[in-house]
Amino acid sequence: MAQVLLRGGTVIDGSGAPPSVADVLLDGDLIAAVGESVIPDAADAAVFDATGLTVMPGLIDTHTHVTLGEPASNDELFFHRQPALAALLAGFNLGKVLRAGVTSIMDVDGLFNIGPALREAVAAGIVEGPHMKSGLYALMTAVGGTAGRMIPDEGTAGYAEVTRNRDEMVAATRRQIKEGADLIKIHVTGSVPTRRGELQVWTPDELRTVVDTAHDLQTPVVAHCRNATSTRDAARAGVDIIYHASYMDEEALEAVVESGAILGPVFTFLANLADFGPKAGATPSAQDVFRDEIENTGAMVRRAYDAGVTLICGSESGFIITPCGHWHAREMQIFVDVLGLTPLEAITCGTLNGAVAMGEKDLTGTIEAGKRADVLVIDGDPARDITVLGDKSRLRRLFWQGRDVDLDRPWPRRSPLPGERVMPWAETPLTWDLAYR
Ligand SMILES: [Zn+2]
Repeated sequence: MAQVLLRGGTVIDGSGAPPSVADVLLDGDLIAAVGESVIPDAADAAVFDATGLTVMPGLIDTHTHVTLGEPASNDELFFHRQPALAALLAGFNLGKVLRAGVTSIMDVDGLFNIGPALREAVAAGIVEGPHMKSGLYALMTAVGGTAGRMIPDEGTAGYAEVTRNRDEMVAATRRQIKEGADLIKIHVTGSVPTRRGELQVWTPDELRTVVDTAHDLQTPVVAHCRNATSTRDAARAGVDIIYHASYMDEEALEAVVESGAILGPVFTFLANLADFGPKAGATPSAQDVFRDEIENTGAMVRRAYDAGVTLICGSESGFIITPCGHWHAREMQIFVDVLGLTPLEAITCGTLNGAVAMGEKDLTGTIEAGKRADVLVIDGDPARDITVLGDKSRLRRLFWQGRDVDLDRPWPRRSPLPGERVMPWAETPLTWDLAYR
């Protein structure tokens, strides 16, 4: 593959170092050189004048669900998806993620066994998309996860695999790894319709069972924890990445700091609902609750950051509130607005730290010679205004593993699929009074 010289751009290298003007030489899959007055050795090298533009690493979104098909309800997600069509749609949606400047994702759980297949299809050049680390089904106890009673008492449904006892936990973990999972996801909390908030539905012993089984097979474990005790117990059990960590308390914070777990608060979904829910016709009831969760959790996440905990950015993309290709940069903005990080610190969370979480810090995440050429050229200064990273019209060039991704094509559009959406028969009961009074 030919060489490409990005000349004279302002480089934000992802490490947290201050921006500096430099040339970046891409050679095939890799970044070959970064520095002043770099001269390509290939006579046919393409030169792109990046003067006044920002050159930075591709974004890394560490919490996506690209196989879910952007459902509007759990009902759709659990009962209105077919394996083959879901896989094709996932490929379509994955292309949009890449075109938003995201060069790597961790797709934490999803439908059927699509995730690992998608990862292989991307690696083989069959599907256009970011590099992937993929989970399979999220492990749950029979109490369930965030879909209440839609979670069955055993077996799989939607993105869930119910494990009823420790033997089943061990078996499911081993089988998922055999089937290609890069990580094991546990839903440590779940919702029961008659209870407020989410309950911790795993015991510390059960958590340790999965963590030990996965770690024996060199596989990390990630956990959905939407209260303080689950965050504490997941950290103590040795979970590698804790997502949400909602309402973390002192004890949970201490456990996270001590364990060395990586933290991904995944505020974007909540923030989208709180800030823009009405624009999308979302149910308004939860808005204040979510705003409170962000403020409350954010204060503790900031303390974790100050204590040295690695923070990563995840968007929860794959739902109707977080469609693919639109919100991958927003977590960085929230880290600036709510946690008080500098834009450069937030960018490190959304690039280098993501690579750390994926176990790929030697491969990607920074602009450095020898790393994969996952590179963005942005019209704007994200070190001053982080919001430019969410504006796709600012993206001038996008290199994925050295390949120049065509940004001039129209944004992918599609029609609804048959049976994809739940269609209510009516919005309100047609009573006699409604008809005649
Ligand atoms: Zn999620």
